[in-house]
Amino acid sequence: MLFLDLIAKKRDGGRHTPEELAFVARGAAQGLIPDYQLSAWLMAVTCRGMDEAETVALTRAMANSGETLGLGKLGRKKADKHSTGGVGDGVSLALAPLAAACGLAVPMMSGRGLGHTGGTLDKLESIPGWRASLSNDEIRSQLESVGAVVCAAGAGLAPVDRRLYALRDVTATVESVPLIASSIMSKKIAEGTDALVLDVKVGRGAFIKDLARARELASTMVGLGASHGVATVAQLTAMDAPLGRAVGNAIEVNESVDVLKGAGPSDVRELTLALARIMLELVGLSVDPATRLDDGSAYEVYCRMIRAQGGDPDAVLALGAARETIVASESGTVQSIDALAVGRAAWHLGAGRARKEDAVSAGAGVLCLVVTGDRVSAGQPLFELLADDEDHLESGRAAIANALVVGSSSSAPAPLLIERVDS
Ligand code: URA
Repeated sequence: MLFLDLIAKKRDGGRHTPEELAFVARGAAQGLIPDYQLSAWLMAVTCRGMDEAETVALTRAMANSGETLGLGKLGRKKADKHSTGGVGDGVSLALAPLAAACGLAVPMMSGRGLGHTGGTLDKLESIPGWRASLSNDEIRSQLESVGAVVCAAGAGLAPVDRRLYALRDVTATVESVPLIASSIMSKKIAEGTDALVLDVKVGRGAFIKDLARARELASTMVGLGASHGVATVAQLTAMDAPLGRAVGNAIEVNESVDVLKGAGPSDVRELTLALARIMLELVGLSVDPATRLDDGSAYEVYCRMIRAQGGDPDAVLALGAARETIVASESGTVQSIDALAVGRAAWHLGAGRARKEDAVSAGAGVLCLVVTGDRVSAGQPLFELLADDEDHLESGRAAIANALVVGSSSSAPAPLLIERVDS
């Protein structure tokens, strides 16, 4: 088989066979196909698409391109969650221990943030001593002893995805639904979870802005889960405004701890519980997760999970010392808060990275002091900006300048949970 022929076939709208897609995955994983040819093929796929059978075959080939976690049977059903990425979306931090407190084993392989959306590992790394990299043996033993692990996906898990994703990032081919779906699902399939809930974000602060594409991505991923024996449900959720009030690293950890203690912003609690309920339903457990937030058992699992990875859950996390408060210029009702603008402001303040190798600031971020629908008066504080040094405040201030719209309408904010997609 010649890779050149496969590029031409897809360019002309042809359908790949499973053998051809296995050849692509193997060639990409082993470095036998050069970047320029893989990039051309990715563009052909982006323009011509792939049908369901092709997407299933590509996902299978990607999942098989490296090791699997080999968790086998654990005495508890394994369930995981994946979010397509939002602003202020620290839900994983509370959800993993909550689901474990309800009786699940949660092997949550997570990533770092890039651009305006945050990464779970960056957030947890603001806890002194906490370690993201675990061996497969450590993951297994922590799942047995604690029930939940949030850690970095090892380099051996679906390694072809790393190569394809890095090329997609620089060739304008990230947006293709079959490529996004196979990228996300190949890692989850290789991880070996029994069940998966997907939080597909839609709106200004998400990388998918319109509902029709979000539905298409959600149903493609749910179908991939079903065809690989992973019980999968997607929940479409609104990402027009930031989730919760904290956007950053340490401040999102603090907010998650509030949720784990039965408090915290109502939208973060609502989403955490909704996703936990789906995970439990998928494996047939009938536990009300709200009781595990309110009786302290989820927080207790969180403390054990953080300690097991070297962190101190009781440490007071350092927040950026350079601060600035943004105030309302007029009185009225908050009509909207632009998640993308707030995410970009947090990024400018130092909470995010421009390139994969950049470090992030643990203490930088944005605290939203009001939410959509609140009444505000001129001069009232709207946002608090936090950074490690004063120099970052100026660009943060510029990014957030038009993020919040005040007006006279007092209609109720749009619902957070948009719709559920089942197989
Ligand atoms: N997250 C992934 O892991 N892959 C994508 O393609 C997009 C988001």
